Amino acid sequence: MLGYSPAGYGTVPLRITVLGKSPSWQDAGGACSGYLVETEETKVLLDCGNGVFGKLREHVDYTEIDAAVVSHLHADHFLDLVPYSYALIYAPKQQPVPVHIWGGTDAPARPRLIAPPGAQETFRQVVGAWGNDDLIESAFRIEEYEAGDRVEVGEIWFSFHPVPHFIETFAVRIGSEDVGEIVFSADTRPGVEIIDAAREADLLIIEATLPRPERTGLRGHLTPEEAGEHAREARAKRVVITHISDELGDDWALDQAERGFGGPVEIAREGAVYEV
Ligand SMILES: [Zn+2]
Ligand SMILES: [Zn+2]
Repeated sequence: MLGYSPAGYGTVPLRITVLGKSPSWQDAGGACSGYLVETEETKVLLDCGNGVFGKLREHVDYTEIDAAVVSHLHADHFLDLVPYSYALIYAPKQQPVPVHIWGGTDAPARPRLIAPPGAQETFRQVVGAWGNDDLIESAFRIEEYEAGDRVEVGEIWFSFHPVPHFIETFAVRIGSEDVGEIVFSADTRPGVEIIDAAREADLLIIEATLPRPERTGLRGHLTPEEAGEHAREARAKRVVITHISDELGDDWALDQAERGFGGPVEIAREGAVYEV
């Protein structure tokens, strides 16, 4: 499914493909948070939740990914860095053998891994549970970003905007030369932070996790209606709701989101492609 592309003649669009859009448990046959962000020259994986690595492989060769970017350190946004790391270290084509045997290159791929503060220590704790402490840092070149940072990967830039959630979390604004800008909300509770981060976005991919606001304790997510309201406040031009379970009901969620936004909204589906 190819979305409408406003990119003009002569410009190379910025493209985002939904690999996984489930919340913290997968849809039937689905994957948690994961998106492939591409231009002609650059390929970046945005989030790598459980189930995403297999979905990524349906679209590209994982050794061709320039960088993986992680929005926050919840399992549904990074857990498949574990199988991805095993592939980068143990896959036959990643072994330093002559090109003619596997058809690969002599130098194994070691993509950048652009992750929140404290990521390396968290990864060590996760894979350290079975004694593999340095698995992820051996497979990837880890860089920890900070709030407000703008990081370039080939033709694409990423900026990181703190949003309120249960742990330190960053909405990600994405752009490239002469194209529109995409904002990914990550996970967030209601607040001005995501509105500021998403201001005038050409495409806003915003979480819409909840059937109703949390009744007790600290809030951490949005309902579809709240997602639409925040998108309207940000004056986003096009809105896709995501991080939503197949158990919630697409028609209900879209109806709620459109009521909040005051215009048409789309719902993320695996394999959907959007261009700006
Ligand atoms: Zn989260
Ligand atoms: Zn999540």
